Amino acid sequence: VSAAAAPEEQAFEAGLRPKNLDEFVGQRKVREQLSIMLEGARGRGRPPDHVLLSGPPGLGKTSLAMIIAEELGVPLRMTSGPAIERAGDLVAILTALTPGEVLFLDEIHRIARPAEELLYAAMEDFRVDVVLGKGPGATAIPLDLAPFTLVGATTRSGLLTGPLRDRFGFTGHMDFYDAAELALVLTRSARLLGVQLTEGGAVEVAGRSRGTPRIANRLLRRVRDYAEVRADGVVSREVARAALRIYDVDALGLDRLDRAVLDALVRRFGGGPVGLSTLAVAVGEEVDTVEDVSEPFLLRAGLLIRTARGRVATPAAFTHLGLEPQSDQLG
Ligand code: ATP
Repeated sequence: VSAAAAPEEQAFEAGLRPKNLDEFVGQRKVREQLSIMLEGARGRGRPPDHVLLSGPPGLGKTSLAMIIAEELGVPLRMTSGPAIERAGDLVAILTALTPGEVLFLDEIHRIARPAEELLYAAMEDFRVDVVLGKGPGATAIPLDLAPFTLVGATTRSGLLTGPLRDRFGFTGHMDFYDAAELALVLTRSARLLGVQLTEGGAVEVAGRSRGTPRIANRLLRRVRDYAEVRADGVVSREVARAALRIYDVDALGLDRLDRAVLDALVRRFGGGPVGLSTLAVAVGEEVDTVEDVSEPFLLRAGLLIRTARGRVATPAAFTHLGLEPQSDQLG
């Protein structure tokens, strides 16, 4: 998935992560809500409610989880849904938590079912029932846990079961960043990396970052290389434009998958309407990936709409691909 971080990217990202709520750009609403909640918890000297963060990859969910721990002055423990295959895996993690600790559970919608059920009591009463033995002779031994705060992250909160969702006291919906916010992210990253980035350069890269800070930082690395190798080291608007042309980043910043989806929708299916699963097959991707990663951005960019009969390309999508819009498309 293109918006996910490659291993070599993770070390680079770690250096650019905002360290507290003030350094965290954008997401004003979530930031304000969290800030009030954390201050309340600090005042009471108790861990805050469990937090669910939902939104497409690369928008800062992991960064926010780290910031929550940082702002509370407590350690953070990180794991992910796919890493918890059995209930025992979760018991081991939960019983090792120290009082007040933040547990970050990425991709929480992918946690195994028995582990999820165990999580209910853990979240609600800070207790787990460890089952010993099998069948009629099995006994459940209750274990008390240290009070903790669970921060769950998911690309789609709709994939969570009701009982799990209900146990979060706060849900923050992360949305794509606008160009001005991304320009701020870029300016900050450039400062940390010692890259000379002009305002025009920042605006140019921001506009092609697909609303996503991770992608903004990634593009900054590419234009920095270009500026150093082919220009005088300064990332100006012209330098950014020339660099991004070489790397095939189009004016809207669509990535390979976005373009493939749009291309299939417009050229193979005449603009739709077409069902999501048909579209996913046409681009050789999982339905979930198309729905969680590509579609939200195409919707937001006004290139695609969802109708009862399926996905439909907008006139802007035809224009973006260099085709004549079809007038009856939205009918
Ligand atoms: P994933 O779900 O794929 O793990 P994520 O939503 O957890 O992604 P992060 O890993 O937190 O995203 O963010 C990716 C990178 O983007 C971080 O290294 C950070 O530098 C940058 N970033 C994200 N959000 C912000 C922000 N609001 N301000 C500044 N930088 C940000």
